[in-house]
Amino acid sequence: MRPLSIRVRLTLWYTGLLLAILLLISGLSYSMLRRSIAQDLDASLMTVAQIIRDTGYSTPGMTAGPGPEAALLQVLGPESYDKFFQLVDAEGNPGIRSTHLGGRTLPLSALARANAARGVATFETVQLSPGGSIRLLTMPVVRGGQLQAFIQIGMPLGHARQALRRYLETLLVLVPLGVALAAAGGAAISRAALTRVDEMSRSARRISAQDLSRRVLLRGTGDELDRLAETLNEMLARLEGAFAQMQRFTADASHELRTPLTALRGGVEVALRAERSTEEYRRVLRSSLEEVERLVRLSEDLLLLSRSAAGGSAARATVDLEALCVEVLEVGARLAEGRDVAVRLDTIGPASVIGDAAALRRAALNLVENAVKYTPAGGKVELSLSCGDGHAMLTVRDTGAGIDPSDTGRIFEPFVRLDTARARDTGGAGLGLAIARSIVVSHGGTLSVESTLGAGSLFTIRLPLA
Ligand code: ADP
Repeated sequence: MRPLSIRVRLTLWYTGLLLAILLLISGLSYSMLRRSIAQDLDASLMTVAQIIRDTGYSTPGMTAGPGPEAALLQVLGPESYDKFFQLVDAEGNPGIRSTHLGGRTLPLSALARANAARGVATFETVQLSPGGSIRLLTMPVVRGGQLQAFIQIGMPLGHARQALRRYLETLLVLVPLGVALAAAGGAAISRAALTRVDEMSRSARRISAQDLSRRVLLRGTGDELDRLAETLNEMLARLEGAFAQMQRFTADASHELRTPLTALRGGVEVALRAERSTEEYRRVLRSSLEEVERLVRLSEDLLLLSRSAAGGSAARATVDLEALCVEVLEVGARLAEGRDVAVRLDTIGPASVIGDAAALRRAALNLVENAVKYTPAGGKVELSLSCGDGHAMLTVRDTGAGIDPSDTGRIFEPFVRLDTARARDTGGAGLGLAIARSIVVSHGGTLSVESTLGAGSLFTIRLPLA
């Protein structure tokens, strides 16, 4: 089954909730009306009973005067027509009663008698045959502590019940009508509100991988949907950047691979064109080996970069940075041999971090290799390790070529080599710093550089302490 759309669900919820509210209100208003009609009815019965009691006709033997019927008509007017009375003596024998009661007598229940013995009036709903349901009040007339008679007042319930039925019928028509109108209104409102969402999803669908420069349209209302469109656009911008970076990376990588391969093919082709001496073959093979070694280094670097960018799957352990610095220093000193560049330790203190020791060694070594590579004879490279602010700081300072401030952001990107490096033909593919940064970032740290052109550079690895 297809899931219900938000529009339908919203409408259903809204309608259901409204229906529940209307049912509750209708039920409450119906029962309040019923109660107030019953109270009014009982109060009017009590008034009539009091009028009869006050006229004195309930006193045994009292027959003079125009009679209770005429007295009621006089006091209540036409209102008295839908009420009957009946006087009953203390023994329970019916006496005078309304003429419109005909031959019928009002019943005197055991409950009414029991209440009367305590001087309390009784309201009951009884069946009068023929005549339907009536509301009946039985009021005792007590004089000198003695029960003298009962005054009974009855009133047919037909009118009250009919009024209640009409009210119920009205509710039965109005509630569904109200709910239907609200459902239609709710559906229209949710359709209007969600049309923009549909529009947005249509325009987002039109954006393909080849066309990431397109954006979801903003209305400029600044509402939730505009904010959603902005978030989508920001995500698209990031995707576009990542895509462009990936394309650049692929193009650069294939270029880097093609150069040694072309050189390799050229050398072999030339060698094969004619008969060569053993020495010439050796020379071709040696230069071929150099190109192959370059290719192996490049593919290893690419693998390292993709592994560290993926977060590194190697097991993480506590890494002693002090020992790591000493190791890196030794390798750096070996690299600097015969180049008249001094590689030494500056300040160093104990610091350990959690991570992949081999990867972190690679990152630090890349910095030291660069420092040695780009520092001319007579210069020096200094390593230092310090802690502070919950972080370990490993720095590599050199007195080398330095980097133009406008290039410091670029050098961490893959395959970026500055002119100074190209001129020296140091042979790097421009992956060293990209790998170092990727490793440091995957350890939750940062790699930054401060440099002055011609004066030297300071690279800092900042890692959270273990
Ligand atoms: P490469 O293989 O060229 O060394 P890297 O990614 O390690 O690649 O470095 C990128 C570029 O940054 C280098 O080509 C060089 O121009 C510049 N660079 C890196 N380290 C230094 C340094 N210590 N001093 C001056 N320039 C540097």
